Amino acid sequence: MKTLKNLNQFEQELEDRIEQKIRRWSRGRLAGLGTFVLALAMVLALLISDKSDRLLPAKQRSAISWSLSSNAQRFAATQPDTQAVTERYGIPITIVRDHPNADTGLSMNSEVILTNKLAAVAHAFDQYLDAHREFAIITSGERTPQGQLDIIKQRIDEHNADAKFPNLDDATVADTKIWLRAWHWLVRRHVPVNAPAAVDGADVSMHTKGLAMDFISDNLDQMRAMLAGFARSKYASEASLHITAIVREPGCVHINLG
Ligand SMILES: [Zn+2]
Repeated sequence: MKTLKNLNQFEQELEDRIEQKIRRWSRGRLAGLGTFVLALAMVLALLISDKSDRLLPAKQRSAISWSLSSNAQRFAATQPDTQAVTERYGIPITIVRDHPNADTGLSMNSEVILTNKLAAVAHAFDQYLDAHREFAIITSGERTPQGQLDIIKQRIDEHNADAKFPNLDDATVADTKIWLRAWHWLVRRHVPVNAPAAVDGADVSMHTKGLAMDFISDNLDQMRAMLAGFARSKYASEASLHITAIVREPGCVHINLG
């Protein structure tokens, strides 16, 4: 009996000791486990955010990253995945501003306004570009006199000259004296910008007459050559307006039409 009692006591003692050890061990480990789980969660979060970038549809990535050799595969449909405004006058609106929707053909920035006659020229140029496996983006079409005045305000702002022309911000096209001073100031600094209204010594922008468009691509010299080629082509002869001048400006290629 004594042996059995001893044995029971020994068993109890052994159990207590094991339990104690487990408790001590788990207390120490729990703190470590918490840190481990937190670190694991952070690593997972990083992996997921990295993957989501890589998981973007290929066409979206390439549209953003300017991978635009003329023999590259067509990387974007003219219709984006979203149901936002996708085209006006039958010309696709750029998904990413100043970036083409496809590696051939014409697209245009969302704020561009065209007349029906400008749109006809744009369609003809679109066909020319497709035939030559090239692309272009329209960055400007018809502008209102107010829109042209806004460009003058913007250029003055960019040159940090706002203080020189305190009343310019609120000026309208009718406030000739106010904007004329600012316009002369820009002309003296060789900033290419036309006047919003015809006054002595100031040519009015052909944009305000609906007889001009601006284009960009990844190479503006090539863009100018392409417009010259288009002007001579059968595509251009189908439109009622014809190119009368091609001007390579600092940020675009400008054409006059008549
Ligand atoms: Zn222009």
